[in-house]
Amino acid sequence: MLFRLGKKKSQEVAPQPWMEEPYFSTFIKQGIVWSELVKPPYGVTQHEWLATNTRPFFNHINLIIAALSGSCTEQRCPSVPAGPRIEYFWLDGKGKKLKRLSAPQYFDYMDSFITEQLNNETLFPTKHGNPFPKDFIAICKKIYRLLFTAFTHVYLNHFEEVAALKLVAHLNTIFAHFIHFVDAYSLLDSKDYTTLDSYRCKILNLK
Ligand SMILES: [Zn+2]
Repeated sequence: MLFRLGKKKSQEVAPQPWMEEPYFSTFIKQGIVWSELVKPPYGVTQHEWLATNTRPFFNHINLIIAALSGSCTEQRCPSVPAGPRIEYFWLDGKGKKLKRLSAPQYFDYMDSFITEQLNNETLFPTKHGNPFPKDFIAICKKIYRLLFTAFTHVYLNHFEEVAALKLVAHLNTIFAHFIHFVDAYSLLDSKDYTTLDSYRCKILNLK
């Protein structure tokens, strides 16, 4: 049901064009105040706010993955690398078995897993009066960790295609929003960030 980092050795310094101009400051709109964007509107609880934002993040990264379906294929991505030294595996069943999947398979599994969670009324209640479960934050963390692996694979393995498809502004905008949101609600741990940590720090310095 989930993923795991594998084959982690030393970090290799590879070119990271998304860290540099003209890409770094490319957003669909300039002047976005990220710290304001992630605050809940008055009267909305934190749980409601997390639930409201999770589906759009999921949908947006899914659109990017769909746009990359011509290059993120079984042949090109027979596993799910995140750069040259790290690979994501799917953690099967009750976390007992690691499964190596191709990237398209991995994103299918991710899609099914997250859709199932979001559509489960006991986990993401939509009807008035239905309470959030006690482990709601833990469920959100699993989903955000998975979404982060998708962003990682896209940036580290498909950025050239993203640029060729003229989707850098979309990707950067979603990712910057995601990173500020995750930071505001502590949805990921520092170990989750290793693949894009310096990029994340640079984004968080955007006010
Ligand atoms: Zn791929």
